[in-house]
Amino acid sequence: MVLDDLGSSLRGSLNKLQGKSRLSKEDVEEIVKEIQRSLLQADVEVALVMDLSKSIKKRALEEEPPGGTTARDHILKIVYEEMVELVGDSTEIPLEPQTIMLAGLQGSGKTTTAAKMAWWFSKKGLRPAVIQTDTFRPGAYDQAKQMCERAEVEFYGDPDEEDPVKIAREGMEATDDADVHIVDTAGRHALESDLIDEIEEIEEAVNPELNLLVLDAAIGQGAKKQAQEFDNSIGIGGVVITKLDGTAKGGGALTAVNETGSSISFLGTGETVQDIERFEPNGFISRLLG
Ligand code: GDP
Repeated sequence: MVLDDLGSSLRGSLNKLQGKSRLSKEDVEEIVKEIQRSLLQADVEVALVMDLSKSIKKRALEEEPPGGTTARDHILKIVYEEMVELVGDSTEIPLEPQTIMLAGLQGSGKTTTAAKMAWWFSKKGLRPAVIQTDTFRPGAYDQAKQMCERAEVEFYGDPDEEDPVKIAREGMEATDDADVHIVDTAGRHALESDLIDEIEEIEEAVNPELNLLVLDAAIGQGAKKQAQEFDNSIGIGGVVITKLDGTAKGGGALTAVNETGSSISFLGTGETVQDIERFEPNGFISRLLG
């Protein structure tokens, strides 16, 4: 991590340490306070911020800086290491045949993400297909179909069929020439038991290797309940954060990562099929602290 990645007040506090070889308790307190401010503003859960603060304080005051290290470099390194611990590594996505199912509330960006991920896999040389099982939201079929056309990837959906489980089953068969199946599911405005029942049945029908929870970057603390419920029903192996091109920094998603014991896989950064990135800790850390 370089100083330029940090927000101006945190950078200012670190720069005040210039020329110092030892950190005082006050120095550490001030830096931790700046970090807390940034993280809370980025919607990171209070409990996670407190844990991180404790680790940084403890290490900064107890660990002996290696010979020749300035106080500023010493704490910068600790902050970076603890932030890496907080955000975690990227979800492992093998470039091989597999089925990935997307879960999340309505409007979180599932359909868009399904097409984006298909585009991403196709650029990696695989042959993806998107299966649209969202029979609940009007327009989901057309939207998915159009985006898949734009991404030039295979698409399966059935606008005349009401049973999403049947679509899922038939979709897997109809696209068996594809090697990566991306299954989009219906969301609701809130978690309802019929949504959970439905996604469990779809899961049984398509037998995915990985279930991803799609969260809007602005989710905040609402992430917790969703993450718990989806994790209990289908098991969540990774999180996708969408709409990171907006002002929200996506810190709430870390709660979902923590609750599910998973990691962040992809980031959505716009409305077109190419606006997808693999999660990468450094960029995300700069964003949270920026
Ligand atoms: P779903 O109900 O979960 O399938 O959500 P959609 O995929 O339909 O997305 C809801 C809205 O968010 C749509 O207008 C999308 O264009 C928009 N959207 C999805 N991902 C992104 C993103 O990364 N950036 C921006 N700006 N908009 C997004």
